[in-house]
Amino acid sequence: MSESPSSPTSGDPENGSRKIPAAVIKRLSLYARLLQSLEFQNITRISSAELGRRLGMNAAQVRKDLACFGQFGVPGLGYYVADLRVQLRKILRSDSEVRVILIGVGNLGSALLSYGGFLKQGFTMLWGFDVDPVAARSRVRSAIEIFSIDDLEKRLIGQQVDIAVLTVPADAAQAIATRLAALGVQAILNFTPSRLDVPKVMQVRYVDLALELENLSYYVQS
Ligand code: NAD
Repeated sequence: MSESPSSPTSGDPENGSRKIPAAVIKRLSLYARLLQSLEFQNITRISSAELGRRLGMNAAQVRKDLACFGQFGVPGLGYYVADLRVQLRKILRSDSEVRVILIGVGNLGSALLSYGGFLKQGFTMLWGFDVDPVAARSRVRSAIEIFSIDDLEKRLIGQQVDIAVLTVPADAAQAIATRLAALGVQAILNFTPSRLDVPKVMQVRYVDLALELENLSYYVQS
């Protein structure tokens, strides 16, 4: 095992993350999630080779990714699972509460709002918004409040909302994104097929299950 020589120390998320490629940040989430499941299994230490093996990567890639943020490994011992997970959560800022809203409580949106697992992972689902909040409410199996989209500004002004999940029809997405930008929401997780035009300071991530299925189908043998 050839982890770096010092005991786990945090990297500098403030300075570090600015220059870090997006692909590395994405893999950090994978590492953090795997470490969490290792903790549940009472595994206290893991090598970069084993971390990589479980995620389908090689040890060098794991070490290179983690080295972007500091020195975490102990020579001959590998990584301490709990410590590394705490450090990665700090880097990903998922150690503090991330406040999320969802807009468009239809088939997809109501399923997401009904899922109770986000809180455990540090995400507080605050509210849902829909053009028809009454019908939307009947679709959701959780106590999350659903408001009219007309009340978006009234609800959000003076509140910290970090991420908005967009599950509205495609033709409604841009207008809502523009309103969210004006309200200072920092990021959108966009499930709609619309490409969004938003200020550069705003982060947008697109989720496309069909794309993922198409990608996976390449590996499926006929
Ligand atoms: P849906 O019609 O069941 O739900 C849309 C909801 O948005 C409805 O409740 C509707 O009342 C509400 N709505 C409409 N206009 C609104 C507005 N201006 N403000 C607030 N709410 C509004 O649709 P769905 O099947 O849940 O799909 C939702 C979106 O997700 C669509 O854009 C669809 O293409 C997309 N989608 C993406 C994926 C993916 O993999 N990314 C998968 C499925 C669906």
